[in-house]
Amino acid sequence: MTSVRRARMNETGWDKDLVVESSDETLAQPTGNQVLVEVEACAVCYRDCIDRAGRFKFIQIPITPGHEAVGRVAAIGPDVEDWAVGDRVGTLHRDFCGKCGPCMQGNQSLCETAAALLGLLIDGGYASHLLAPERCFYALPEAIPATEAAGLHCTFGTSYRGLRRFGGVESGQHVVVTGANGGVGSAAIQVAARLGATVTAVVRDAAHGDYITGLGADNVIVDAGDRFHKQLTAGPADVVMDCVGPPTFNASLRSLRAGGRMIVVGNVIEEQASVNLGYIVTRGLQIIGSSGATREDMMAVLDLHAKRPFAIQIDRELDLAEADHAQRLVQAGGLRGRIVLVSH
Ligand SMILES: [Zn+2]
Ligand SMILES: [Zn+2]
Repeated sequence: MTSVRRARMNETGWDKDLVVESSDETLAQPTGNQVLVEVEACAVCYRDCIDRAGRFKFIQIPITPGHEAVGRVAAIGPDVEDWAVGDRVGTLHRDFCGKCGPCMQGNQSLCETAAALLGLLIDGGYASHLLAPERCFYALPEAIPATEAAGLHCTFGTSYRGLRRFGGVESGQHVVVTGANGGVGSAAIQVAARLGATVTAVVRDAAHGDYITGLGADNVIVDAGDRFHKQLTAGPADVVMDCVGPPTFNASLRSLRAGGRMIVVGNVIEEQASVNLGYIVTRGLQIIGSSGATREDMMAVLDLHAKRPFAIQIDRELDLAEADHAQRLVQAGGLRGRIVLVSH
C-alpha cells in the first residue's frame, strides 16, 4: 500500500478549485511502454493556466495538471527500453514516435503521431506518482535538486531549442529577449549569454532591472511592450525571443536586422497579433514558433549547466495540497521564478 495523492481539475475555468485527492489505493502498474514515476516535484507553468482556462479545446477532463515534473522510476512496463527502476527522470511535454517526418528531422517535440500530452491528454505531475509512456521523459542527473530541475525543460530547454536550434544564435550576435523576468525569459538571457551573444532584455517593470542584469543581460530596457525597438543601444537584433506575444509582437519584429529571426514562445493573452506583411517580406524576416525541447536539447542544456550552473529562480515551494493556490498565484503574475509543488 502506497499513499497516493493527486490534484484534479474536474472542469475548466477558475470558478471551481482544483481538488487534491489522497488515498491508500494500490497503485496502477505500468503496462506496455509505460513507466511509473514517483514524483519529487512539479513546477507550475503559465501554460497550466492556459490549460485551465480551456484554451486547448481538446483537453481531457477530469485531468491531473502539470508537465514540469521530476522524479524517480518506480516501475516499468514490459516493453520499456530506455529506463530501469531507480533512474532519475524529468518530463518533456509529451512522448514521440521516433519514426515520423518531424522525429526523423530531430523535431521529436513536434511528433505527428505520438500525443501523450502531459496535463492535457494524460494525467500530469501535480501528483505523488505519474504514469506515462517512456518517451515522455529525459534523463536527469542526481546532483540537481528536484525543485530546480522541475522547470528546467520548459524554461531552459525551451530557450535552448528556440535560440540555438531555430535561431542559430552564436557568439557575437545580438539577442533581444522580451518578458525577460519570466520563467522562459530569465532562462533565455542566460542561455543566450552562454552562447556568446550580446543580450538586451525587455521588461515592463524597472524593479526587475538588477535581477535581470545579474542573470547576464548586457542591456535592460523598461518598456510597456510597443516601443523598445527604438531604444536598442546594441543595434538591431539577429534574433528576438518573444516570450510575451501580442503586446510585444510588432516591436519584436521591428527590433530585427534584415534577415533576422523572431522566435515566438509566448502567447500570454488571447487576442491575436496583427502584422504588416510588407515589413516581413521586404526585410526577409523569419518568424518561428517554438515550444519545449527534445532529449538531445536537454543533454545540451544539462551540459551547459554542469560546466557553470544556471541561476534557477524558485519563487517558492508549496505542498501539493496547495495546487489550486499555486495556479492562482501564477495566473496573477508578478512572480520571480517558478512555484514548485512538492509531493512527498
Ligand atoms: Zn511549462
Ligand atoms: Zn514522431
